[in-house]
Amino acid sequence: MIGLTNIEKRFGDNLVLKGVTVSLDEGSVTALVGPSGGGKSTLLRCINLLEIPTSGSLRIGEETLDFHPGGKVPAKDIQRIRLQTGMVFQNFQLFPHRTAIENVMEGLVTVLKWPEPRARERALALLEKVGMAHKADAWPATLSGGQQQRVAIARALAPSPRVLLCDEPTSALDPELAQEVVDVLGQLAREGTTMVMATHDLRLASKIAQEVVFLDAGSIVEKGPASVVFDNPERERTKRFIASLR
Ligand code: ATP
Ligand code: MG
Repeated sequence: MIGLTNIEKRFGDNLVLKGVTVSLDEGSVTALVGPSGGGKSTLLRCINLLEIPTSGSLRIGEETLDFHPGGKVPAKDIQRIRLQTGMVFQNFQLFPHRTAIENVMEGLVTVLKWPEPRARERALALLEKVGMAHKADAWPATLSGGQQQRVAIARALAPSPRVLLCDEPTSALDPELAQEVVDVLGQLAREGTTMVMATHDLRLASKIAQEVVFLDAGSIVEKGPASVVFDNPERERTKRFIASLR
């Protein structure tokens, strides 16, 4: 189980997350939707501690961290949490001077100190899972956007994280390439991967997510099953937003 309790994030005078509480059941897929600037990316980055929350607490599995304004989080706590999360970015962010398989092996070898043959074997199995084994030795620049994103998904899954965090994983892709990525994410969801995904893509969200969290100006306006939030939202604000995406 993953739990965020009363998470606040402040950038200078700007309170970007205003006390966000969400819990993610194991094996569930949650879509994070809402207007631009509402705090979706910041919330994802607070789960893997790319941003340190200003206050609140974060629980991932057995680990709980409490945050306090001005408090420092020890680097070893950050690394422990980060290993339990995998992040997929809008623009893939593969290492350009590493082949596809080297990208997937990187964390296993450098952070987890796996021997190279074992890392290679796991990386190949993951590339196979995302349909990219045939491009294991290709350079990122020679791959399509959809292919790069599938390698990025394999890389994020390499250390067997408890949760896969996806920040608009399809929004940089043409519809056809986006579909490849949706198919891979859908497959992972069916296999029970716990996921949180920020997205403007209602088709992606309604295909994969069971839970939807609607975040506006740093606060959760509405959350619930996808069928309710998308098709029959309670709040006026949610209705207007969903209507704007259709
Ligand atoms: P989008 O749909 O456009 O991706 P979002 O919901 O992901 O938007 P965030 O990127 O989380 O929104 O941004 C929320 C707010 O936090 C914005 O006002 C943004 O300017 C601010 N913000 C985000 N990161 C930083 C930062 N590193 N420094 C200062 N302000 C930031
Ligand atoms: Mg964002």
